[in-house]
Parts: sequence; structure tokens; C-alpha cells
Amino acid sequence: MFDLSSVDLLDAFTRELRLCKLQPDEHVVVLSEPSSRGDYVAAAFGAAKACGAHVIAATVPGGNPSPADSTRTGAGPGLSAVLRDTTAQDLLKSADLVVDLTREGFIHAPLQQDILRTGTRILFVCDAPDVLVRNLPKPEDKDEVLAGVELLRRASTMRVTSEAGTDLTVELAGAQPEFQVGFADDPGRWDHWPSTMVLCWPRRSEGRIVLAEGDILLPFKEYVRGPVSLDVADGDIVKVSGGADARLLEQFFADADDQWARSLSHMGWGLMRTADWFATALYGKDELMGMDARAFAGNFLWSTGPHPVLDRESYAHLDIAMRGCTVRVDDRAVVTDGRLAEI
Ligand code: FE
Repeated sequence: MFDLSSVDLLDAFTRELRLCKLQPDEHVVVLSEPSSRGDYVAAAFGAAKACGAHVIAATVPGGNPSPADSTRTGAGPGLSAVLRDTTAQDLLKSADLVVDLTREGFIHAPLQQDILRTGTRILFVCDAPDVLVRNLPKPEDKDEVLAGVELLRRASTMRVTSEAGTDLTVELAGAQPEFQVGFADDPGRWDHWPSTMVLCWPRRSEGRIVLAEGDILLPFKEYVRGPVSLDVADGDIVKVSGGADARLLEQFFADADDQWARSLSHMGWGLMRTADWFATALYGKDELMGMDARAFAGNFLWSTGPHPVLDRESYAHLDIAMRGCTVRVDDRAVVTDGRLAEI
């Protein structure tokens, strides 16, 4: 018996931790829960050692009993075990780098900000091995996403249009542009491997978003099967029309019982040229979080629910990835008909 895939994983994690600028004698905590991938824990542990760092593998009780269909959505609060355990929190705060291999991460939990404020950097990893390897970031990706952030910072309006009928105008004042680049190299930085995207948190947006066949609904990990029209007024979805997918979204908003479920959250565009739009069709749902869809180069990604800039804590989080849009930042097109422009 042999397992050569573990060799590839160790190599990929080692390259990834080097992108995170992991230095000898830094302290790494590999955070997992019982349903985390054991091969990832081993690979992250070995990679940290290969970089000459100190490493601790910490396993906390899982967020949900297994099997846990509702996990890997990226929408949840993270593990309640950590949210309630100050010893676990202190461990994470004392680390230089946390490799978060839990199934949900703490993406939308305020606790994550507390940990980051101590200077700890966090790398979240949840997709399938070949998704990680195919989308292994490059150092120069950071220049590209930073250029996008700078563009948003200097602009006043983002306008998104599509042949399907989307016409959304987004106010950029105070929208706090950000990026994901797939590695966490600066102190206090959270990032997600894999990802390459530019995003912001608009305070106001107006118009209409029209989903077309083949767009991707997350966390459901489903393709849109027929057009859905969403009317947006002052940042809120005020009307949803269309067929089965429209009813699904309406039901999601209603079931969420959350005052921010219909409010727009982050939005931006993907720059991950290695992403595969068909990953959603080709993998089991529990193998993926769906970063191929979220970061696909030339997509328009928008979302609902949590909005830290407006102090909205919410777990009713949809991410919707659209193809074929044109995204203009003031007069500059960053995406034209779903194709990434050079900026
Ligand atoms: Fe999101």
C-alpha cells in the first residue's frame, strides 16, 4: 500500500505556506474539527515543519454532527466550540499563522476579527485537493488584486450590466474595497486558498440583477435553470420574479427569518484564471466550498446578508456568481461581457 497523493498535498501545502511568508520559528496552529480532512491536517503540519516553523495541531469539537450537509457553505458562524472556548481563542490569537481546516471557517463570525486584530494571519482551506493544486496562487496575483482595490478606492460608482437584463448601479463611497488572493502573508490578514477576487461592501445600490441560465447559486452549489429577475432598491432586494429558482430564493429569504436576508452584501469580480466553472457540476457537494465559482476570472460575484461596514451580523448569506456581465468602475470596464480586462 502506498499513498503518493499525500506527497503532492505536502508539496502544495509547503508552497502555499511559503506564499504566506511563513518564517522559521514562527508559530503555526493547524485548526481542525473531527470531520476535517485528515490528509490536510497532515499536509499542513508537515508543510509547517518543512518551513522550519513551530506547529501545533488543534482539533476542537465539530460544529455539526456528521454527516453534515449544511456545512461547507461559507455562510455559517463557525464552530461554536471555538466561539465558547477562550482557551482555544487564546491559542489562535497567540499563533503567527492559523491554518483553518474546519469545514465552515469563521468567515462571518466577529470572533475572527478579534483574532486577526492580534496580528495572527489565518488561511482557510476547504476545497478538494485538485482544486487547491490547480488554483495554487502566484505571488504576482497580489499586484493585480491590489490594482483592482485601488481602482475601487478612487472611484465613485460601479455599474454592472448584462445582456440578460442586469443593470445595477452601486455607490462606492465608504464601500471598503478588499481583496482575496489565496494566501495570507501580512500580519492580521485572513485569506482563502484558493481565491483571487476584488470586492467591496457597498452602502447603496439600485437597479436590477437578472440571473441567467448557468449562473451559480451558493451555498446551494446549483446552476440557475431559468432567468431570475431581482429588483434592488436602496441595497435591498424588493422583488424576485422568475420560475423555480426565483421561488427557491424567495423561500430561502423567508426561511432565514433574518432582517438582512434580502439586503445586498459584498460584491465584486473574480480574477482566478485557473478556475473551472464546471467544478460545481463535477464534484460532490461535500467536496467543495465552491471557490472555482466564486473567484472565476471575469465573473460578477454578489451576495446577501452579513455586512460588517453597516454592522449587520447575519448568517443568511448567499453568494451568487454570474457570467457574461460587464462591470464598469466609473468609466473603466474591468470585466466586459464576462471577460476580464487588463487594468
Ligand atoms: Fe460571501
